[in-house]
Amino acid sequence: MPVALSKDGPDRLVIEWSDGHRSVYTWRHLRDNCPCAGCREERQKPPDPFRILKPNELVPLAPLRMPPVGRYAYKIVWSDGHDSGIYTLEHLRSLCQCPQCSVRAAYEPET
Ligand SMILES: [Zn+2]
Ligand SMILES: [Zn+2]
Repeated sequence: MPVALSKDGPDRLVIEWSDGHRSVYTWRHLRDNCPCAGCREERQKPPDPFRILKPNELVPLAPLRMPPVGRYAYKIVWSDGHDSGIYTLEHLRSLCQCPQCSVRAAYEPET
């Protein structure tokens, strides 16, 4: 379970877990992995050759709030109003970008 959420620098989120692990994420990484139906669909579309920026690349894009949803998930409310992504704790943990987890991710195939 997360015990603390905090901001690290201008574009990173830090989650401290009850098992002592400290997860670091860039906001972009979290948004790119948004599990909501709209974002999933967006990621599956073929690239549009005329598009320069995706809607989620508009700056400044930042998470405003991260309220818990039930006991095992958090939702992220973004500065552009997007708030339908519900991140389960398991998902958050699998997205962790700390050096320890990045090494592990390099060996495990992405699902
Ligand atoms: Zn989304
Ligand atoms: Zn980690």
